[in-house]
Amino acid sequence: MPNTIFGKIASGEIPADIVYEDEHVVAFRDLNPQAPTHVLVIPRKPIPTLNDVGDNDAELIGRLFLAAAKVAEQEGIAADGYRTIINCNAGAGQTVFHLHVHVLGGRPLQWPPG
Ligand code: 5GP
Repeated sequence: MPNTIFGKIASGEIPADIVYEDEHVVAFRDLNPQAPTHVLVIPRKPIPTLNDVGDNDAELIGRLFLAAAKVAEQEGIAADGYRTIINCNAGAGQTVFHLHVHVLGGRPLQWPPG
């Protein structure tokens, strides 16, 4: 499996502004933020897309979202509201093929997203 830029961030090979990390996940600020808070939460395991998640990843996916909520709390956007997004494959805008949850907040967010 090719090591993506996010795999290199998870291993420390490439620097990033890390806001949370543990044994299973890493969260860092998006290089091109779309909101005052824009953090990406990734599993250390290099799963390319949501389509590649298996039954044995169920706990890991839970940890990914627990970390997203933790980051939102830490960033002070939990009470006002924030959005979590997973883009799956090119048609949805996925550009980095290492599963990631976008955590966006700090401004009003439109719905539907377009
Ligand atoms: P996607 O479009 O795949 O859902 O999201 C990829 C995100 O990764 C984009 O929002 C993009 O700005 C961000 N990104 C791409 N390369 C880097 C990088 O090298 N470092 C960081 N921190 N973010 C990146």
